[in-house]
Amino acid sequence: MFGSVMAVFVIYVVVFILFEDYDRKRLEPFDEVSDWHLLLFSIVMMGGLGLILYRYARRMDERISREQAAKENRLRRELTQNISHELKTPVASILGYAETVLHTEGISEQQRRQFAERTLSQAQRLTALLQDISMLNRMDYAADILTKGRVNVSALVADIVEETSLAFQERHMKLYNQLPKDIVVRGNEQLIYSIFRNLTDNAVAYAGEGTMVEISATEDKTHWHFHFADNGQGIPEEHLPRIFERFYRIDKSRSRQMGGTGLGLAIVKNAILLHDGTITIHSEKGTQFDFTIAK
Ligand code: ATP
Ligand code: MG
Repeated sequence: MFGSVMAVFVIYVVVFILFEDYDRKRLEPFDEVSDWHLLLFSIVMMGGLGLILYRYARRMDERISREQAAKENRLRRELTQNISHELKTPVASILGYAETVLHTEGISEQQRRQFAERTLSQAQRLTALLQDISMLNRMDYAADILTKGRVNVSALVADIVEETSLAFQERHMKLYNQLPKDIVVRGNEQLIYSIFRNLTDNAVAYAGEGTMVEISATEDKTHWHFHFADNGQGIPEEHLPRIFERFYRIDKSRSRQMGGTGLGLAIVKNAILLHDGTITIHSEKGTQFDFTIAK
């Protein structure tokens, strides 16, 4: 910055000295300063200012890209750490159960079965985690090859209602599906399924016993506007800004007990963005998601 100011000053002084002899008489008194001197002064000042601004903008750009690169690096490191941490737990459990079954003398048939069931459930958790990671990867790096076609959202949500009805019953919860029967959009069926499935699974897992969930929608020319709400325990305000981040959970131990890894809402948000939509969350007396999907 200082260098630029000095450069402008020096340029002006040099130009001024070069032309001073030629126009010495006219410089005095001041009000006789010729037009070309004023013009010259303005040009040099403008040029100088431009130079200062240009250098300043370039320096800011460089700083911003340096900071962005550092942030991306940090996020990538955190993501890798998170993934390996989440993989470690089920893998360690599977190894532990398998070793116990193989190397423990006189293990009863009942215990053997119990360990086999736990191994299966950990392996299922591992599979779900890998599927989530691969889905996010596909959205990040191969969004353009995701096939899109006509998706009947009403039918798809009706399927989810059926698939989760037992879980709703077990928790004494109710699901009110108020969607019109004819919601059809152009999109990727698997991703749209993931949006509604993750929100439904979350409601079942976190809203609490005896709560209810309501899904409704309205349309405008270009988009369907969905409202997905439960009247459960809600999410404390301070967590809302980070809730769509990968691996972000409010109560890690509780969420992990429910089999959660904190990828569900990240998938929801990314899938919505890939359908030209937006999503917002509110949490007043329960949790409400408002999102759009392009027709
Ligand atoms: P995953 O979906 O990857 O299995 P998860 O459910 O923990 O794991 P998200 O779906 O991203 O991850 O949800 C993040 C956190 O938000 C959850 O851990 C939970 O604490 C909170 N949450 C999500 N939905 C609700 C809800 N309907 N009511 C209360 N809390 C919720
Ligand atoms: Mg979830």
